[in-house]
Amino acid sequence: MADGLSAEVAAEAGVAPDDGAVPATGWYAGDIERVVVSEARLRERIEELAARVAADHPGQKLLLVGVLKGAFVFMADFARALGRHLQVEVEFMAISSYGQAVTSSGVVRILKDLDRDIAGQSVIVVEDIVDSGLTLSWLLRYLESRNAASVRVVALLRKPKAVTVDVPVHYVGFDIPNEFVVGYGLDYAERYREVPYVGVLKPAVYTRP
Ligand code: 5GP
Repeated sequence: MADGLSAEVAAEAGVAPDDGAVPATGWYAGDIERVVVSEARLRERIEELAARVAADHPGQKLLLVGVLKGAFVFMADFARALGRHLQVEVEFMAISSYGQAVTSSGVVRILKDLDRDIAGQSVIVVEDIVDSGLTLSWLLRYLESRNAASVRVVALLRKPKAVTVDVPVHYVGFDIPNEFVVGYGLDYAERYREVPYVGVLKPAVYTRP
């Protein structure tokens, strides 16, 4: 797993907060307190990530494994950006923690498994956000047990805790503050996934009945 890429590439994570004004469009506009990463920055950074991943895997065919549901928007944009450089195929997994939260052992339940054998394939895990890193660490062990030729990780967002845990995130979009964010695939109670930017909700949203 340790292939010498992570520290070097992770260090290049984008500087996150735009602190831009919240766009007035969308039913959700009134619920968002602050934009953390704007649509324009997302677009720009995803192109950069795709170019970097392509440069590290010249001429290879990559199997992108997206983690549902949160990664579905990032996956769609990242696959198209990467597809301009090399051949990609996509797979999705859905996993959930046992009970309310991922346990300290990082044991998770598979809700949807891979649809194919990944033995011998070059896999890129596409994650929306890494916080404690427990989900990712479990997933990496799982994919390695399925005998992938290589497994690397691209995460759009990374929270501060993830920097301190020993889980490799080879490509990082943005380091963001330790706040709960929504949008661009990320939800609060299954809402806000369609918001086209990453933002923080107004506190009042959490106290609504
Ligand atoms: P970890 O195992 O790294 O602690 O947690 C990763 C998962 O927790 C993510 O895939 C995501 O589902 C969820 N998560 C962590 N931080 C946030 C956040 O700020 N907003 C949302 N919507 N989900 C989060």
